[in-house]
Amino acid sequence: MYLYNSLTHKKEEFVPNHPGEVKLYTCGPTVYHFAHIGNLRTYIMEDVLEKYLRYCGYHVKRVMNITDVGHLSSDGDTGEDKMVKGAKREHKSVMEIAQYYTDAFFEDCRKLNIKRPDVVEPATNCIPEYIHMIETILDKGYAYVAGGNVYFDTSKLEKYYVFQDHKEEDLAVGVREGVEEDLNKRNKNDFVLWFTKSKFEDQALKWDSPWGVGYPGWHIECSGISMKHLGEDLDIHCGGIDNAFPHHTNEIAQSEAFLGHKWCNYWFHVLHLNTNSGKMSKSKGEFLTVSLLESKGYDPLVYRLFCLQSHYRKSLVFSYENLDNAKATYQKLLSRIAALQAKPEESVDQEVFQKLQGKFKEALGNDLNTSLAITAVYDTLKYPTNDKTKLAVLHDFDQVLGLDLIEKAEKMRQEQKQIVTGNGNFQVISESGEKNEEIENEILERHAAKQAKNFQEADRIREALRARGIELTDIPGGVKWRRAE
Ligand code: AMP
Ligand code: ZN
Repeated sequence: MYLYNSLTHKKEEFVPNHPGEVKLYTCGPTVYHFAHIGNLRTYIMEDVLEKYLRYCGYHVKRVMNITDVGHLSSDGDTGEDKMVKGAKREHKSVMEIAQYYTDAFFEDCRKLNIKRPDVVEPATNCIPEYIHMIETILDKGYAYVAGGNVYFDTSKLEKYYVFQDHKEEDLAVGVREGVEEDLNKRNKNDFVLWFTKSKFEDQALKWDSPWGVGYPGWHIECSGISMKHLGEDLDIHCGGIDNAFPHHTNEIAQSEAFLGHKWCNYWFHVLHLNTNSGKMSKSKGEFLTVSLLESKGYDPLVYRLFCLQSHYRKSLVFSYENLDNAKATYQKLLSRIAALQAKPEESVDQEVFQKLQGKFKEALGNDLNTSLAITAVYDTLKYPTNDKTKLAVLHDFDQVLGLDLIEKAEKMRQEQKQIVTGNGNFQVISESGEKNEEIENEILERHAAKQAKNFQEADRIREALRARGIELTDIPGGVKWRRAE
């Protein structure tokens, strides 16, 4: 597989440290609010990466942290702890909101078919690991204590800005938001490993440490949790592009200072989901969630498809119009799959199966080109082969795509009501799967009018339904109906 590596700024062949095994680390959510669909774009693309690696036969161990302490309002160590802010907003304890939003996050993931990582570790579980790392980093001379806090000294590194080819506006996110200056820092980019005196007054969770009672900085948690579960070498580290600087830059600085050798080989960054008014952000407070999309009648998997239709290294603009296009595509795909009928006498044509699978692998193996992988789904539907082979191929692809193609198409098939008229088969299909006999009968009457060449009556019925917000589409052998939005 070829992957773009943010560290080398090149597309590279992926070669894991240990043949056949992949150690994968993913920055998890800061659980002070619901995940927005921008965050979830990142998790969807990471899920596709993980599933594709498994599909290729790798044994993958994936670890994710849950940030429940230490992430300040600005990624550059300024402002209030996001968790404390969230707890105040909701008049609850930090641990209560952490649990609530962690559960909400995994519920969103479930709806989007995002697999739960093998290990999910809250940051507050690993305090002894961070203390051990910080002690070693201090002993090795890469950190200093100032004003009671422990800081990483970035001037000790030969190269600090490892992801420097990213655009300035991507890199500067954390820094721009923080206007306060921390006078304890020796260098502008030094960052906090352990807080004691500053930002302390209303910090909810504190632990004893060699430097006094306090709490860890945000960056140390990912290094600590990764090494606890994946050891001293990591194959792929993932996150959204805003994490590249300062978070991942700092993770590399402290991990390699601690280990004394290279830590992670491949860095996978997902570009942002934006709205027309800019980047979607949790801290701005106004954002779109999966539940909101559901309340507007969208299947969460429509959003997954929407994400898969574009490349993870391009920023993506969200609009309801774009989402409606993805919805129409999903419905069309499902109805085409629902129309496939494997006959008992058919068998899977292995040659065709492998040919189609080859196209799919070629797409995803080339830096996870998911939109071409969706094209491979269309190619399969069009391919001159039997339906049993098509269904087997689609089932195979869906292990990575996670669109429930076969299950949803089957459900659609069962929901399609077959009404037999005097002139053969005529299907009335509800696009949403809603059952409504009255509407079905109206449609049937319109069909009868058309059969009798009474087009005036047929049009009258269509108009009457339209006035009630019911839209009809004539399809070969029947009519589809849906409620206008
Ligand atoms: P957070 O919960 O804020 O720590 O972010 C969780 C993940 O979502 C991180 O990997 C972020 O880089 C990523 N992220 C944040 N905002 C966006 C966005 N607008 N689009 C895509 N990913 C994002
Ligand atoms: Zn992280």
